[in-house]
Amino acid sequence: MYDDNNIFAKIIRSEIPCDKVYEDDNVLFFYDINPVAKVHVLGIPKIKCANFADFIEQTNEQTIKNFFNKILDVVKMLGLKENGFRLITNNGPNGGQEVPHYHVHIIGGEPLGSKVR
Ligand code: 5GP
Repeated sequence: MYDDNNIFAKIIRSEIPCDKVYEDDNVLFFYDINPVAKVHVLGIPKIKCANFADFIEQTNEQTIKNFFNKILDVVKMLGLKENGFRLITNNGPNGGQEVPHYHVHIIGGEPLGSKVR
């Protein structure tokens, strides 16, 4: 069940401000309020999906392809493609997901090491 009052839903509706990197009709990318590296950007599709599993199961291939293409566009825009970056999705309680609107973390701008956490 999708919660219309989650923080990212409010950011999409401009009820809460964010530091935008890129926005169009379908996606929004903005800086994480609590960055874990020099660059930490969150990317969200604007559709009502609570997590990665819902996004894959409830949307069509074009929507999924468009979102991932936009992730790469933003990676390039941020200058992260050449030296590398980390792309993370936390899904559900064991995954440590705090905000129940599907999102990716784009993290980089410095060496992150080889460990997942
Ligand atoms: P999750 O644990 O759900 O994968 O990640 C949620 C992320 O959202 C966290 O990294 C957290 O710092 C970020 N976050 C939470 N609230 C806000 C907010 O109001 N604005 C922004 N820009 N980021 C937020």
